[in-house]
Amino acid sequence: MISRKTIDEIMLAAKIEEVVGDFIPLKRAGKDWVGLCPFHDDKDPSLHVSPRLGIYKCFVCDSAGNSVKFLMEHEKISYPDALRYLANKYHIEIEEDKRELTPEEQAAQTEREALLGVNSFAEKFFIEQMNETETGRAIGLSYFKERGFQESTIKKFRLGYCPEGWDTFTKAALANGYKLEYLLTTGLTKQSENGKTYDFYRGRVIFPIHNASGKTVGFGGRILAKGKSDKVAKYFNSPENPIYHKSDILYGFFFARKSIRTKDNVYLVEGYTDVISMVESGVENVVASSGTALTDGQIRLISSQTKNITVLYDGDAAGIKASLRGINLLLEAGLNVKTVLLPDGEDPDSFAKSHRDSELIEYLENNATDFIRFKTHILLQGANDPIKKAAVIDEIIDTIALVKDEVTQTFYVRECAEIFQVGEDLLLTKLRKVVWKKLNAPKSGQRNFPNTAQTVQTQELPYPEKPAPVRHPKPEADTIESIEFNVVKLILKYGLYEITVEVTNKDGGSSYQPMRIDQHIFNEFASEEIRFHNPLYQTFYEEYARIAEHSATQEELIHSFVNHPDKLIQNLTIPILMDENPEYSKIWKKRYDVFTPSTDNNIEKLNAEVEYLINLFKVRLIEESKKILIKELAEDHPEKIQRDIMKRLTEMDQMRMYYANLTRTVITK
Ligand code: ATP
Ligand code: MN
Repeated sequence: MISRKTIDEIMLAAKIEEVVGDFIPLKRAGKDWVGLCPFHDDKDPSLHVSPRLGIYKCFVCDSAGNSVKFLMEHEKISYPDALRYLANKYHIEIEEDKRELTPEEQAAQTEREALLGVNSFAEKFFIEQMNETETGRAIGLSYFKERGFQESTIKKFRLGYCPEGWDTFTKAALANGYKLEYLLTTGLTKQSENGKTYDFYRGRVIFPIHNASGKTVGFGGRILAKGKSDKVAKYFNSPENPIYHKSDILYGFFFARKSIRTKDNVYLVEGYTDVISMVESGVENVVASSGTALTDGQIRLISSQTKNITVLYDGDAAGIKASLRGINLLLEAGLNVKTVLLPDGEDPDSFAKSHRDSELIEYLENNATDFIRFKTHILLQGANDPIKKAAVIDEIIDTIALVKDEVTQTFYVRECAEIFQVGEDLLLTKLRKVVWKKLNAPKSGQRNFPNTAQTVQTQELPYPEKPAPVRHPKPEADTIESIEFNVVKLILKYGLYEITVEVTNKDGGSSYQPMRIDQHIFNEFASEEIRFHNPLYQTFYEEYARIAEHSATQEELIHSFVNHPDKLIQNLTIPILMDENPEYSKIWKKRYDVFTPSTDNNIEKLNAEVEYLINLFKVRLIEESKKILIKELAEDHPEKIQRDIMKRLTEMDQMRMYYANLTRTVITK
């Protein structure tokens, strides 16, 4: 594996115009370069290459990305190969993630290898015992056959049997030179207080557990139903040890990987027998979390293969509510989640057994429900009163807020609106509130801030008791259209940065606090229910809210907009992102390079610009509303209504004056 350090070095060295320029003639166009786009039949140069953003972007066919993406798409090579190409081009030595090991690491590696060796021996031993001994066949193999497992499946999953008797396995392992220490660590052998050793899985059928590369890292052992007391657990599982981290393992993953990729979907079930029965019925893209709640490690395994997961739920409603949390984790990881609820009393194992293969597959296909419908169905069970319904809506919106992809999010909002017969707008407003609340919530590690340099700096900024008013220069054009556009620009380019804003306290006084620009604008707009006149800007604004929530850095934000599914949004934002604003860019450079905020008077400028724009925007909005009222005044309304309109107009004039004054005395720190 190419080390993280090398990747960083490569990304830093790669110059997009040089990389693209190796394949396509580029011409200079201002700060950017342009050329014929190689990804569609281009007549006029429509491929723009921005050295500053490190991206290329075709304004016709929408292909866009960084140097690595260009190489992958243009040369049809893999990610590591693209990195190797760049490393070669920029003479960067590739450091593979394999360093000299320290003695401790060497010891740990030796231990891991020893443990794997023990497990591999055990797996073979259990298979042999089951297939090549009289009792093994009579007890172990026949158990699996009674369950309906075919020979081929038994072989594939390397199922086995650990014989009765105290220490048949342990003795064999010791005789073969395996150390007791390792037998104990893997949990295959147990030791009683008086030092006597015995086989942990004795008298059980064995389900070996494999890691992603097929190595046997643990075992599940099922008791044989007949003649056993209920007091003993049905399944025994390996204890945590250096090679078995339960939370990073999905049962069946090694065998399912290929099918997961080709089907671009994975079915998630509960345990060993569910996986095996489904595979027998021809559904091979199936894995199990083995009884526990899903973990981040397991989710990472899944998302390395597909973004689509279908969770199978047993037909007994009990326990489903508790497992709904798992859905949230999957959504947070950016996966598309579907669910299938099995008929009453069935689990995947029993259903697969009692139905023909085609029936199972058909059932899965016909009953895959998206999580919204599923969750709503589960949560609404029982009560149907409006208050309960409202609570369910809130909970569903909370869940939708976790969805990473903005388009999918919109889709779910639409669906939710349909289910509950409420306005999409209302839900979008709710969603935005949730998203922004999260955005505003103090988080550990300040992951919302563009980078640490800035965070350090904002913490050190001196906040004066009372700010000095300064005059703001008059802008050239301040039509509502141009103001709206400027607000869009401001949010997009500087939204993640912090300024100082006046905040009203509970006691009515006010203080000055650092706040992100996007947050500040959002607060201002939300408090007066301001919407953009231009519908595209309004859409941008809503998209921004969702994208910013998931973007820790300016780069991530740029990436989302550059690759935005809505072409109109792309066309609005990319030119803004590509266009460098010399006045501000200097500041940011300065902010990153030098930590002397007190001398940095450009921050004041930005601070002032934000306040100025917000207030000017309000002034223009009021003027727009006034125009409408004045037109009404000319209509033939009854006197009372005329009076009301006049009254409203007077109020508006006052408001207009108030904000207009604010635009003249803009506060900066
Ligand atoms: P039965 O024959 O009684 O149905 P089972 O072996 O199918 O027993 P269930 O109790 O139905 O087991 O369990 C459901 C699923 O969860 C099965 O796939 C089973 O393999 C798995 N499972 C049950 N208990 C555990 C456990 N303790 N650890 C890991 N997996 C388990
Ligand atoms: Mn079962």
